[in-house]
Amino acid sequence: MTFDVVIGCEVHVQLFTETKAFCGCGNTFGGVPNSRVCPVCAGLPGALPSPNARMIEYAVRAGLVLNCSIAGLTKFDRKNYMYPDLPKGYQISQFDMPICFDGFLDIEGEWGSRKIGIIRAHLEEDAGKNLHSEDGAGLSYVDLNRCGTPLLEIVSEPDMRSPEEAVAYVQEIRELMEWIGVSDCNMEEGSLRCDANINLWIYEGEKKYATPITEVKNVNSFRALRAALHFEVKRQRAEWEEKRLTLEEVGKVTRGWHEASGTTILQRHKEEASEYRYFPEPDLKPILVSKALVEELKAGLPELPARTRNRFVTDYGITMEDAVQLTSSRAMSCYFEDACREYDGEPKKIANWILTEVNGICNQKNIGIAEFPVPPSGIRELLAMTDSGRISGRIAKSVFAEMAETGAAAVEIVEKNGLAQISDRSTLEGIVREVIAGHPKSVEDYRNGKSNTIRFLVGQVMKKTGGKANPGMVNEILEEKLKP
Ligand SMILES: [Zn+2]
Repeated sequence: MTFDVVIGCEVHVQLFTETKAFCGCGNTFGGVPNSRVCPVCAGLPGALPSPNARMIEYAVRAGLVLNCSIAGLTKFDRKNYMYPDLPKGYQISQFDMPICFDGFLDIEGEWGSRKIGIIRAHLEEDAGKNLHSEDGAGLSYVDLNRCGTPLLEIVSEPDMRSPEEAVAYVQEIRELMEWIGVSDCNMEEGSLRCDANINLWIYEGEKKYATPITEVKNVNSFRALRAALHFEVKRQRAEWEEKRLTLEEVGKVTRGWHEASGTTILQRHKEEASEYRYFPEPDLKPILVSKALVEELKAGLPELPARTRNRFVTDYGITMEDAVQLTSSRAMSCYFEDACREYDGEPKKIANWILTEVNGICNQKNIGIAEFPVPPSGIRELLAMTDSGRISGRIAKSVFAEMAETGAAAVEIVEKNGLAQISDRSTLEGIVREVIAGHPKSVEDYRNGKSNTIRFLVGQVMKKTGGKANPGMVNEILEEKLKP
C-alpha cells in the first residue's frame, strides 16, 4: 500500500484595525470581560452594523500579497448558527462573493519551492469567548470583547503533501501578514489561528481511495500544528487498515488537538454549508472595490521579504543566513537598514550586533525589536566608537547593556564612566612594566618558548585597566619588552 498525505489549511488572521469590523468598539486584545461591547457587537435588536473601511483596505492588501484577484463587487452574508458566545445567532461572513479569490503562495518546503493554491480569502467577524470556572463550581461565563473583531479567513487548495509543508505555508502567511502590517499574527493571543484539513489518498493496485477528511482544530502553535498532523497521518492509516472507511461514506469530521495527550479527539461531524442557511446580510450593502483603490493599495505595499533578503545580500554583503534572520520581521529589517544608514564600517558588524546583542536583550526582556529602547542610530554610534578604537569591543558590550537599560547615548555613558580605551603608549608601557615585574615565572616561561603565556600577561594588563587598554597595542608592547 502506498499513500499520499493531502492537507489544506484555513488560516484566520485577525486584522489589526483600530476598531471592530462593524462598530466603533476598540479592537484590542484582552481587557475586563465585556468592557468593549456595544449593541452592534452584542447583536441587540435594531442595532445596525456599518463596515470598517480600514478592514476592507487590509483585506485587499492581504489579497494582493497572496496573489489573489480582488473582487470588484463583494458582499456580506449571514452564517447562521447558535452558540453561547455568538449572541446574534449568526456571524457576518462572506459566502459566494469573497473579497479575494484565486491566489497562490510559493513556499519553501521539504521538496523545494512549491506553489500552494489559495481558493479564497474572505472577511468575517469573530465570535466571543466562553470562560469556564476553574474552582469546580461548574459555571461558564461569556466574554463578548472579541465579538465583531475583523478576521480574514484564507482558504488554501488541498495542495500540501506533508505536515512540514503545511507548517511552511502557515509560516509564510504569518510572515507576510505581519510584514505588510495588517495583523500582529500573535498565535498565543489568537490573532493567527489555523485549522488544517487532512486525509490520505490510498493507492491499492489500480485503485485509489480517499480516507475521511479530518478538520483539526485548536492548534495554537507551529509545533502543535506539526504534531497534530503527524498524529492524524498515523491515526488515519491505522483506521484505514482496520475499517477501510472512505470519504464518501463518512464525509468530514472535526477533531480537536489535545496538547497534553498529544492526540486528536473527535468533536463532531462537520456541517455542510447548507446547514448554515447562508443568506445575504440585509443590513449591509454590497461593497464596490474600485480598481483605483486596488492600484493605490498596491502602490503602498512595502517591498516583500523575499526581495528584501536578496537585496540585503547584494547591497550590504551579508550572508543569506543572516539576511533570513534579519527579515524575520519587518521591524527588524527596518532597524537593520536604519542602523546601516550613514555607517562607514562593514554592515556585517551591524548585522552581527543586532542578531546577537540586540536579540539577546530582547529575548531576556521578552520584547520585540519594535519596543527595544535603543534606536538604530545608537548602534551605529556605538560601533563607530569601537571602529575608531575609542572603546574596546568588550567595553562596548557593557556600554550597550547600559544603553538598553537607561536609554542614554553611548558617548554619554563612555564619558560619564571614563570608559574610553587607553591607547596612550607611554601609559600602557608603564602598566606593562608593572605586570612583567609582578609575574617573573610567566616571563620566564615565555622566554623558554611557551608563547601562549603572552595571553595571560595581556589579560593581566586588561585587568589592571578595567578592560580599557587597547589589546592590540598591549600585545605589541609586551612582545617588544619580553624579547630576551
Ligand atoms: Zn461594538
